[in-house]
Amino acid sequence: MFREETIAAIATAYGEGGIGIIRISGPKAKNILDKIFVPAKKKEASGRRLTYGAIIDPDNSEAIDEVLAVFMPAPDTYTREDTVEINCHGSVVALKKTLDLVLRFGAALAEPGEFTKRAFLNGRIDLSQAEAVVDLVKAKTEKSFDSALNQLEGSVSLRIKEIRKELLELLVKITVNLDYPDEDIEEITYVKLIESISQIDDMLKKLLSTADAGRIIKDGLKTVISGSPNVGKSSLLNALVRENRAIVTEIPGTTRDIIEETVNIRGIPVRLFDTAGIRSTEDKIEKLGIEKSKDAFNQADLIVLMLDGSGELKASDIELLLAAAGRKAIVLINKIDIDKKIYEDQISNILPGCEILNTAVTKDIGIKELEEKIESLVYGGKVSQSESLLITNARHKDLLSRAERALSDAREAAERKEALDFIEIDVKGAWGLLGEITGDTASEDIINEVFAKFCLGK
Ligand code: GDP
Repeated sequence: MFREETIAAIATAYGEGGIGIIRISGPKAKNILDKIFVPAKKKEASGRRLTYGAIIDPDNSEAIDEVLAVFMPAPDTYTREDTVEINCHGSVVALKKTLDLVLRFGAALAEPGEFTKRAFLNGRIDLSQAEAVVDLVKAKTEKSFDSALNQLEGSVSLRIKEIRKELLELLVKITVNLDYPDEDIEEITYVKLIESISQIDDMLKKLLSTADAGRIIKDGLKTVISGSPNVGKSSLLNALVRENRAIVTEIPGTTRDIIEETVNIRGIPVRLFDTAGIRSTEDKIEKLGIEKSKDAFNQADLIVLMLDGSGELKASDIELLLAAAGRKAIVLINKIDIDKKIYEDQISNILPGCEILNTAVTKDIGIKELEEKIESLVYGGKVSQSESLLITNARHKDLLSRAERALSDAREAAERKEALDFIEIDVKGAWGLLGEITGDTASEDIINEVFAKFCLGK
């Protein structure tokens, strides 16, 4: 699993930039730097001091770039190994040539995530912290960045470690009972056992309950804007994009494609899909668009369904309202600046339990209320959870729910007063599953899979 070699990679994004950084980690890092770097003043690059000089190919004395270089001795580095960073000019040519030279003098090209993997294998961070590094790099809003930073600082690890400690204490109690069984105290043991298991199970349930909001903070809230033609869908999309800095704009291939914009609404990345509508048609190309719309509609976390409130409710509106049954939906009665001919109770009758707002999106009426509704839906009606710990990682969520299931099984077995051996298996199972989150009990395959998601040079 662990390569002894010194590794190197371009750590900055590919393309033009002010500077570009080559990162080298491993025992030969200093040696390689000494061979290819000539400081401007005679003093060589001493530890942790950024030194100005040039990268020169010692074989033919060709000057490759003017750089700033630094050597950072182990163990106080990102990887806990000797590390060198060379700040080249942000030119693809300079970076590639310098990297080639570094490789020629004994470094191996780093795999994606290998620097962070070394930080993990050398014990500087655990697996969930390593995963936070990816989230941090990919974060699109301040909230998703903060949440990843929290996790990098060890918030998830700490909580998991606390829960594992409780599980371990429980396991010790079970083992003692198994080794020194005493028939007389069995009744009390089961009662206590159920109490302890339930307590830990509740902690897991509480953590799991943050996973929906966590996923949305990390990956964005998929929101479909749906409605008949001319109700104001594009106008709403424009208003939301105008008021909330757009994060990504995907330019559609054809006008029938789905338009997607990601905006930052109160720290939540909201992915807005303006769809072609889902009415029936015979037109082949339109059919394709409608199929895509249906997919988007079915996969959405939230449906914003728009109606033209200046006119009566139409059959196509009713069709849409019915299609949203059982989904999280906000219905907008739009164009109320002109007239209001559609009423709340009409809508509640067709789509019970949906949220309803009166809007005039071109007049900036109701947009703020819509944003508030979206925020409260994400947090399940609770106030903003900026302080608390969120489970944002799908792998963590999966492991947590499997651990929770194992504990539920253990509790049920205890309630049936089954043999302690059986209960012990489930409790141990939960303990192991939680250890996979931090990497304590994760197999090599899992570790490799986690690091495969990284970008080069991280
Ligand atoms: P879409 O087909 O659903 O995307 O609808 P558009 O956003 O293109 O809007 C259709 C027309 O209705 C445009 O001329 C808009 O300016 C107008 N419109 C949209 N929303 C409102 C509103 O709230 N009030 C008024 N008065 N006009 C609106």
